[in-house]
Amino acid sequence: MLDRSNELTAWDRDHFFHPSTHMGMHARGETPTRVMVGGEGVWITDKSGKKSLDAFAGLYCVNVGYGRTEIAEAIAKQAHELAYYHAYVGHGTDASITLSKMIIDRAPAHMSRVYFGLSGSDANETNIKLIWYYNNVLGRPEKKKIISRWRGYHGSGVMTGSLTGLDVFHNAFDLPRAPILHTEAPYYFRREDRSMTEEQFSQHCADKLEEMILAEGPETVAAFIGEPILGTGGLVPPPAGYWAKIQAVLKKYDVLLVADEVVTGFGRLGTMFGSDHYGMKPDLITIAKGLTSAYAPLSGTIVAEEMWNVLVQGSDKLGAIGHGWTYSSHPICAAAGVANLELIDKLDLVTNAGETGAYFRQKLADAVGSHRHVGEVRGDGLMAAVEFVADRDDRVFFDASEKIGPQIAAALLERGVIGRAMPQGDILGFAPPLCITREEADIVVEKTVKALDDVFGR
Ligand code: PLP
Repeated sequence: MLDRSNELTAWDRDHFFHPSTHMGMHARGETPTRVMVGGEGVWITDKSGKKSLDAFAGLYCVNVGYGRTEIAEAIAKQAHELAYYHAYVGHGTDASITLSKMIIDRAPAHMSRVYFGLSGSDANETNIKLIWYYNNVLGRPEKKKIISRWRGYHGSGVMTGSLTGLDVFHNAFDLPRAPILHTEAPYYFRREDRSMTEEQFSQHCADKLEEMILAEGPETVAAFIGEPILGTGGLVPPPAGYWAKIQAVLKKYDVLLVADEVVTGFGRLGTMFGSDHYGMKPDLITIAKGLTSAYAPLSGTIVAEEMWNVLVQGSDKLGAIGHGWTYSSHPICAAAGVANLELIDKLDLVTNAGETGAYFRQKLADAVGSHRHVGEVRGDGLMAAVEFVADRDDRVFFDASEKIGPQIAAALLERGVIGRAMPQGDILGFAPPLCITREEADIVVEKTVKALDDVFGR
């Protein structure tokens, strides 16, 4: 085949507006173009023929791993039979109806309906609208504020970028917008008062939330949104007792809980949902990524039965709900979802995420946990992070300009393993496909040790 590498690189620089990329550096050719061409299991191959172990599963989404023919075939079959029909005014397909049932069968027991979107961002956009609609139906038009956490990640739309609590998603975009507020991140390692125990820190986070609700007026606060375990904000598991204490405050002031399970949904923590894992009882659950393992774009909002009953009263009063996307429950994406969830069951990937996840995190902690520049190794299930510090005894962080996290991720990539430098800190993140084996986890650990040597010296 004609080698078009140079031509492609030029087209890429001149025409492709990449997401989350330094625009100037990329257009000027100062950062590499990497064209990906194939993958199998946890391995991904680029156009130069280099194979890498993808220990971040794309953007923690290729949960069943690359190259699954079962999903490819389901997509092809659906495309041949019926590539598209909409879901407005009661329409559906075998795939969209079956997938709804499969999701509810796997979701926490009190959930009853699924609204489909295409991305985690648009699903959270749907959540915000449903929360406002719900309070309008209940005759509480002033109860509209939504509290998120600093370092939470919920998307990069106008409202969902506002929910996100990371500076880079706000700067120069005039975000966050009202009525979104942010409270304390549940980030024990970075707590200000280092004398606090985890339980005390969880109480502190719950107290801060209660203070905010009281200062704003409980009659104006509609909902709280959080990832069961902080993802993009640093892969930080909740401190002991956190969700129980937060939920007690929400209950006291009649504030809804949204569990953003875009990353944790469908097995990543070794349980089908993170809500089950941490004892959360959400009113809405956001799903995306693992729903199709990213073989096709599909997201969803799972609605609790109690909330659904109120929404129904709304349409009895107001008529059909004025909310819809052309591609909601797109048949090709729904077919990918059905095949993906079947495969997760068949390969018992949820169990593997729990077991191999525990093995991987232990190995990682053993290998780098006492390194002079490692402040913490943490995680849960198949999510793990190594946080780097200039001085571990005094917990002194590196200056951001040193770009330690990105340097280590680059050194690791050189050695054939993809990890992710997380924003706002020097944090190396791992969230591999749920099919990763112990042998592959060993490779990730071994190369991480070498990447640390490359950057810090031996
Ligand atoms: N919510 C969480 C927890 C996420 O991690 C992400 C993406 O990483 C999103 C929402 C947004 O999803 P998307 O990028 O599909 O819009």
